[in-house]
Amino acid sequence: MEHLINAKVKDIQISGIRKISNLVSTYKDALTLTIGQPDFPTPDHIMTAAKAAIDAHKTTYTPNPGMPELRQAASAFANGKYGLHYKPETEVIVTTGASQALDITLRTILEPGCEVILPGPIYPGYEPLVRLCGGEPVYVDTRSNGFKLTAELLEPHITEKTRCIILCYPSNPTGRVLNARELADMARLLEEKQIFVISDEIYSELIYDGPHTSLATIGNMRDKTIVINGLSKSHSMTGWRIGFTFAPEYLSQHMVKVHQYNVTCASSISQYAALEALTNGVDDALPMKQAYIERRDFVYDRLTELGFELDKPEGAFYMFPSIERFGLSSMEFTMKLLDEQRVAVVPGDAFSVYGEGYIRISYAYSMEVLEKAMERFGTFVRGLS
Ligand code: PMP
Repeated sequence: MEHLINAKVKDIQISGIRKISNLVSTYKDALTLTIGQPDFPTPDHIMTAAKAAIDAHKTTYTPNPGMPELRQAASAFANGKYGLHYKPETEVIVTTGASQALDITLRTILEPGCEVILPGPIYPGYEPLVRLCGGEPVYVDTRSNGFKLTAELLEPHITEKTRCIILCYPSNPTGRVLNARELADMARLLEEKQIFVISDEIYSELIYDGPHTSLATIGNMRDKTIVINGLSKSHSMTGWRIGFTFAPEYLSQHMVKVHQYNVTCASSISQYAALEALTNGVDDALPMKQAYIERRDFVYDRLTELGFELDKPEGAFYMFPSIERFGLSSMEFTMKLLDEQRVAVVPGDAFSVYGEGYIRISYAYSMEVLEKAMERFGTFVRGLS
């Protein structure tokens, strides 16, 4: 019967990050720097609000796009922090994490044969969703510009088949950020084109050098941009599964239909937790951000001392150093490091072909773990040269 299974689903591969995580679990003494989730607990006041929601039996379906008061709070948060203007009633949808936000967005705008531009290296969660819609990913090599997409790099890849581009800044896996001027340069090109932009801003609260600029605040980009965000990273709430889409009404009214038939609504308990996060925890990310800055500086200094080439990340909690000078592929480097020193990282090729020659290190781990890991990195590198 296997031949009756949808071919597009059969073609999807398990992500490179998952493969490495599965492998690492077989090495009991390994230090893992592979996971993209905060190591902080969800703030207590959010947990208390969720418990209160359970005790008050707030356990029924909510309206499909989310509780009105939560959409109001999300709209106010996006406005207060980034100057975004979205009507809570018709332009905000509460989703099951940013992951589901991406899915409903792509399913709303793609048709078979559409091309989707992805600046690589990039988060591996996008390509399978594009392919399930019958779309074709078109990768743009951003290595020549320190992983920052520019209008010049982008323009040659736009064809009459291009339906959208996905931007992810601060970036997973590189930690690079596009500042307001760099986004404005890109917006000048995008404004002329009949293509949508999905702006995945899930790391917007984790920017270390300067404010976050949302692409949707530039010129008339709001009309063609779907902003994706969520609480997984900002409030250390990965397991609560709360994300958001912010999009003009002409798009949101169709996205909400896909959402409705897909999940009905996000979990009611999690929505109460999210309401607390966005009303009384607007700045909950700040202390975590302080810790990430300290860790970033530590790991960056150690890696550069060891001779790794990398640009200092400005956001998220990843580093993407080049390993080219060691003459090993990213997978060979990763396997050797794991075998010899019991340190797990993600090979760069998990983030598209343009990630080959690099490794991704997550520094969402305690200083104690990072110190040990960097010591082992030192021993490893000395053994290689
Ligand atoms: N986008 C990016 C760039 C991510 O790194 C992640 C999570 N690793 C997601 C989206 C998905 O986030 P969520 O947990 O909200 O589904």
